[in-house]
Amino acid sequence: MSDLIITLDGPAGSGKSSVARKLAQRLGLEFLDTGAMYRGITAQCLDHGVNPTQEPERVIEVARSVRMRFAWGDDPPRLIIDGRDVTHRLRDPDVTVSVSDVAMLAGVREVMVRLQQRIGAEHSRLVTEGRDQGSVVFPDARVKFYLDASAKVRAGRRARQLREAGREADEAVILAQIIQRDQKDSTRKDGPLICPPDAVRIDTSEMTLEEVLNLLEAKSREKAGRAIQV
Ligand code: C5P
Repeated sequence: MSDLIITLDGPAGSGKSSVARKLAQRLGLEFLDTGAMYRGITAQCLDHGVNPTQEPERVIEVARSVRMRFAWGDDPPRLIIDGRDVTHRLRDPDVTVSVSDVAMLAGVREVMVRLQQRIGAEHSRLVTEGRDQGSVVFPDARVKFYLDASAKVRAGRRARQLREAGREADEAVILAQIIQRDQKDSTRKDGPLICPPDAVRIDTSEMTLEEVLNLLEAKSREKAGRAIQV
């Protein structure tokens, strides 16, 4: 079967996580959540007394020394760090607040990019989502998407997701955090959030999840042709 990498980049709350996973299911591809990897390093730091904002050298040391892998048999794959399943920690507020500071560090990105490329070589029929997948990690990917939406719409979506998961959500606080995270993600020197020139850009503000999914599926089939077999 021929290789097929589909990249999906975009800011927090653009809908990419939900869409990427479902797109992978529809097309019979595997799914890689690269945000989970940065969140995993952040959780590992917080749980082992390393301050993600104050101790960059120690954070880089954590990224270099841990053994990170996905349990590919699960859907979605669970994230295992040094033998510990950290999946339940990834969406916790303390991790969400600090993750951009961890993702800013060039030493951390170097390790993550290399690991993502290795995963792409081993799982070569893949939908991968993040901030730099089409620009830095898989510049030769056959199909690239960039999803966007207004910050207000994205904050509303995040708040709804949290409430559905039984958590409290203050939309104004979430909006402020999203704006701050976007700013950090877009202005960092290494692997900033950008729309690759050869990506299909989609503004999802006024679209339902189903509409976005249908559009991405149609575009993927158009661009990848016979590489998609289901
Ligand atoms: O997509 P998600 O919200 O889980 O990503 C969490 C954070 O991880 C982002 O705000 C960003 O700082 C970082 N990230 C990144 N590069 C990626 C994926 C995520 O810098 N490829």
